[in-house]
Amino acid sequence: MARAMRLARAAIALSLCGSASLPAQERGWFALVNVNVIPMDRDTELTGQTVLIRERLIQAVGPAGRVRIPAGTTRIEAGGKYLMPGLADMHVHMAGPPEIQRQLLTMYVVTGVTTILNMRGTADHLALRADIRAGRVLGPDMFTVGRYVNQPFFATPDSVEQEVVAQKRAGYDFVKIHGELSREAYARLNATGRRVGIRIIGHAPRTLGIDAVFAERQYALAHAEEFLYDTLGRSRDVDLPAFGARIPELTRRMAAAGIWLMPTLSGYRIIGRMAENLPAVLARPEMRYLPAAVRAGWEPGANPYTARFGPDKAPGIFARVALLQKLTRAFDSAGVKLVLGTDGLNVGTVPGFSVHDELQELVDAGLAPYHALRTATVNAGAFLNASPCIGVVRAGCAADLLLLDANPLDRIANTRRIAGVMVRGRWLSRQSLDKLLDALEAGGR
Ligand SMILES: [Zn+2]
Repeated sequence: MARAMRLARAAIALSLCGSASLPAQERGWFALVNVNVIPMDRDTELTGQTVLIRERLIQAVGPAGRVRIPAGTTRIEAGGKYLMPGLADMHVHMAGPPEIQRQLLTMYVVTGVTTILNMRGTADHLALRADIRAGRVLGPDMFTVGRYVNQPFFATPDSVEQEVVAQKRAGYDFVKIHGELSREAYARLNATGRRVGIRIIGHAPRTLGIDAVFAERQYALAHAEEFLYDTLGRSRDVDLPAFGARIPELTRRMAAAGIWLMPTLSGYRIIGRMAENLPAVLARPEMRYLPAAVRAGWEPGANPYTARFGPDKAPGIFARVALLQKLTRAFDSAGVKLVLGTDGLNVGTVPGFSVHDELQELVDAGLAPYHALRTATVNAGAFLNASPCIGVVRAGCAADLLLLDANPLDRIANTRRIAGVMVRGRWLSRQSLDKLLDALEAGGR
């Protein structure tokens, strides 16, 4: 109870900080002046640019001398800094009471994450999405799936069809499968999605495997691990060379089918790290920003992964991650559609911060920094097919931007050196971001 009170108070502090008390200059017209732009629609950087923003849209991008800055515009001197699109995490979980969800939204904003896709949704998430879009709640632009469509609630093809139609009508952005369906029901799921215009994403249906995903052209797969399970079954004692040998075949089929993949490599690795040494994971600096109620579920005794996996299981998990890195690199080289997802809020995966971990993981897997960054920017825009465009710095696209002290194309870890964030046209300087971090930390105690 005392904790609930403290959380409630922290949420009030956050909402004041995040909206009501924002000074006027945090909205309206802005010009980022003399900045190096990483547009992300091509592999280049443009030096000495002025980027003009009005409310929620980028109005102009051009050489500093050539973009006229209207009177009354707030100038942000950004010489020597790097401006890229805000980051996207296309696999997160928004859960818990409203005040906790607001803290999670803040965690995304302070880490430069300006777009998220919630992977388990209810009508409350539709309301939250509306609140964010209307500016009543500070947060990244949020997209959401509805409830999972699989057995036992939806067993027959007809019940699956009705649910897909209902979720489309309700306004969900995607339909998620996370479990089992009969072959007939799975075919109906995908066919109905195409008919009514809502995309089917999630896991491979448990008992049907990857072949069914290719046959029915599910829009996206939620984890690279899906390929492991398909080859190796759910057993943990598995033949990794057999999986390695399948990588060329899987790569060819994924490229041909045009199915999106969220690799979620860091989300898998953290399970091994927790098995190996949970106190070391919990000692990471970003843990202090987690809501206390969330963190409590990650502690020894409550942590579901360490209950299942002891330190002896860690090497096996890391061996699997190494293979999934190899798979991801092969996919990237073959032009398979990759979009960044982290499973944010899953035990061990710290919302927002995990996006930077995943970018590092993709580079460690062998992707060029530009390719890794694409998964979190322009690819996310293509995956969502959002309007206005997101994930590129271009006139007419959403003013969701990340200002960095150093070039992330040189070193991917530079995405963590955040000088400012523009989210839905609202400018948060380093000072504003630090205030939000302080409030999160106070809420986490
Ligand atoms: Zn998930």
